[in-house]
Amino acid sequence: MEQIPPILACTLFDSLVSPILEYGCPVWYTQNNAKQLETTHIKFLKNILRVKTQTATLAVLGELGRIPLTAKLHIRLLSYWARLISLPESNLLKISYNMLLDLHLLGTKTWCSQIINTLKYYNLQHLWENKDKDQIKKFNFKKHIQTFHQNSIKKDIQDSNILPKLRTYKLFKTDMNPEKYLLISIPKYRISLTQFRTSSHCLEIERGRYHKPKIPANQRFCKYCDLHEIDDEIHFLLNCNHNLKLRLELFRYIQPLIPNIDIEHLKLVKPIELFIFLMTIENLSVLTAIGKFISKSFTNRNL
Ligand SMILES: [Zn+2]
Repeated sequence: MEQIPPILACTLFDSLVSPILEYGCPVWYTQNNAKQLETTHIKFLKNILRVKTQTATLAVLGELGRIPLTAKLHIRLLSYWARLISLPESNLLKISYNMLLDLHLLGTKTWCSQIINTLKYYNLQHLWENKDKDQIKKFNFKKHIQTFHQNSIKKDIQDSNILPKLRTYKLFKTDMNPEKYLLISIPKYRISLTQFRTSSHCLEIERGRYHKPKIPANQRFCKYCDLHEIDDEIHFLLNCNHNLKLRLELFRYIQPLIPNIDIEHLKLVKPIELFIFLMTIENLSVLTAIGKFISKSFTNRNL
């Protein structure tokens, strides 16, 4: 699987697997069914990125610029509802719908209850309340739902109360575009960079989280050098003496590719800015070199 570029793997999933998973979903949709499909989807994404199962789903979606599969189910469900209510009253499907609607209004949970819950979830209850068929028919559910999820993922990534694990990721991930580095042609360099960015690694900052008893974040020091710094992604990429030789090679190689940035100056004055710059750069040669540095430095630590 690691030989298939992740973006291509996603395209294959969307064109070959997703249509089978989604088939007939407006009829069989329930939250539980959708949850099972989402589990399959996320498992697939973690597999193609080669990250641990504990990796934050938000980071996985962010790297690939994807939204949950359930969003697609919701788009199809609400689009089907829009078509259904536009049918003539004598149509058999419309008669069935009206019967379900009556039962819903009497307090029984039916397919219509699912529709109102989904509309509420997307702040679209006005469509239900207004009963304006033309407005519902013209409404762009696809655009609204996609935008809703993209904004929600971006907001949740920035909210460290939801997932402290994303403390580093939120520094550099601010949009929902698929990451350019996923085009790196050497799988091990691309995979190392994904694991590094999504905290799917064994630096002390992550290892300490699973240590028993759990080590407080401010005490997860690097064991590979004498700097007595927290062994997080910034320490690993910019400071750790254990990776010094590889880092000199890296910076020597990439400096001519980015003449407007003085790496040595930034490293001393604003390491966090240099870190964010390196994580957001779009130059594929630079990204490959960073992936190579991370891959070799992981190997140096036997990670
Ligand atoms: Zn160190």
